[in-house]
This record gives sequence, structure tokens and C-alpha cells, in this order.
Amino acid sequence: MPELPEVEALADHLRRRAVGHQVGRVEVAAINALKTYDPAPDAAVGRTVTDAGRHGKFLDVVFDGDLHLVVHLALAGWLHYRESFPSAVPLRPGKGPIALRVRLDDGSGFDLTEAGTQKSLAAYLVTDPAQVPGVARLGPDALDADLATFTERLRSRRGQVKGVLTDQQVLAGVGNAYSDEILHAAKLSPFALTGRLTEAQLATLHEATRRILGDAVTRSVGQRAAELKAEKRSGLNVHARTGLPCPVCGDTVREVSFADSSLQYCPRCQTGGKPLADRRLSRIVR
Ligand SMILES: [Zn+2]
Repeated sequence: MPELPEVEALADHLRRRAVGHQVGRVEVAAINALKTYDPAPDAAVGRTVTDAGRHGKFLDVVFDGDLHLVVHLALAGWLHYRESFPSAVPLRPGKGPIALRVRLDDGSGFDLTEAGTQKSLAAYLVTDPAQVPGVARLGPDALDADLATFTERLRSRRGQVKGVLTDQQVLAGVGNAYSDEILHAAKLSPFALTGRLTEAQLATLHEATRRILGDAVTRSVGQRAAELKAEKRSGLNVHARTGLPCPVCGDTVREVSFADSSLQYCPRCQTGGKPLADRRLSRIVR
């Protein structure tokens, strides 16, 4: 799933490439992906792209006259910038990976795509990004929050730090992959309870959050969209590395189920050498 650094890099690419260009056509191929009907997609036609930005993990393409295309890429969504399109024929609604296509006046443009059968990419055409419910509920941006804000937000929600850190209402932008990396860098168990974190642990976690996300943004921005996923993988120490050695200590990275997915961690770095019990599994076994 694209998280803060990847969405920032996609916004950066749009700022450099699309800003100043007029929309020629908007083609909606996945009707279910477009969550708004007023303004209609054609409202963007003839307008100039003036900016691109990010709200947490939401991408925001800004057109003149207060119109925004806000996109949540979900698990398998992506934005592909095309210097040209192979055909001038408009997309037809169907089951392909392209959900939405925006053509610009210089022949370039972008496709919003979604792989797989579970379709949850969501696009909204709005006059104010706050009209998107998921955006309105976002907490402060994880990259911008100072230590006082970070501490206040983490303590506002009691629970396992892995879940709290990925709760977009607590802090915006961190998902499954970067939370694994942040907790590894902070040498914290993903199951540590936020209510029991000391001031020192919160300060370390805050520093790790800013450093991991900041480094990932630096690595990602300027990369071609097609290379972003490989760039993200290359920077990971524990996430999606089950069974491989931890680059810090050499212990074996382990995996445990969490919520609807799984998380990865290093026992020696994060849990005093003890493997975490898989609570879902042990419940079933019992
Ligand atoms: Zn380690």
C-alpha cells in the first residue's frame, strides 16, 4: 500500500509534470472508484492543474477554480504518469486495471490503476478536500508533528502502539510497512501499550517516525513512479522480510498476525529476544 513517502513522491511528480496543463478529458472506467457525482467528472475539463499535494495517504490534484481530485490508492492502487497515450479512444467502463484516466492538453496525463480483484481505490471530485470524509478525520501529519503534538496524539488512544501509530485519526500517513520500520528503529515491541510508554520512549519513537519517513521521502522524490515500489522495498529492514536476517543485529526477522494482516519485527532489537505470541492462532488452538 502506498504510504506517506510514496504519495508524496507521486504528488511531487505531478507538481513537476502536470502543473500548468489543462485537462482535456476525464475518463471513468471503474464507476465504483469515483465516489462523488456532483461536480461531474466533466467539471474538470478545461481547467488547469495548479498544484498537487497530499493529506496523509490521500493524493490531491488541484485544478483552478477550487476543484480537487482527491484519491486514496488503497492496497493496490497506483498513479501512472503517461507522456502519451497509445490511443485517443476513450476508455470504456470495464474490468481492467485502469480506474480513471485524466488526459492533459499536451497529450500526456495519468491513469489511476488498481491491481487485483478487491477494488477499493477511491476518487473524489470536490471543491474542498475536507469534503472527503477520510480527509476530514485525519490527525496531524506524521512527518510534521512536533514532539508535543506527537506525544499528545499517541497518548490520546490507548492500545498497542502498532495499531495506534497506523490509526489515521491519530497521525496521518503511516501504514503497515513504515510502522514496522519505525518500531524497529525505535526498538519498541509492536505490542507495547501506548499508555505505558515513557517520555523517553515517546521521544525515541517520535525521532524514529520523522527519520524513517523523512529518509523515505528523500529516497522516493525524484524517482520515476515505476521505480518507487522497488525503492520502497530496498529501504526496508524488517517489513516483508520474514526469515531474513535483521540488518542491525543479525537475528531472524519474525512475523506475527495483527489485525487483518501481519507485522514483521526483530526479536533481539525489539522484544528482548522473545518471539511475540500469535494471539489469533493461540486463540484458535485453545
Ligand atoms: Zn535486530
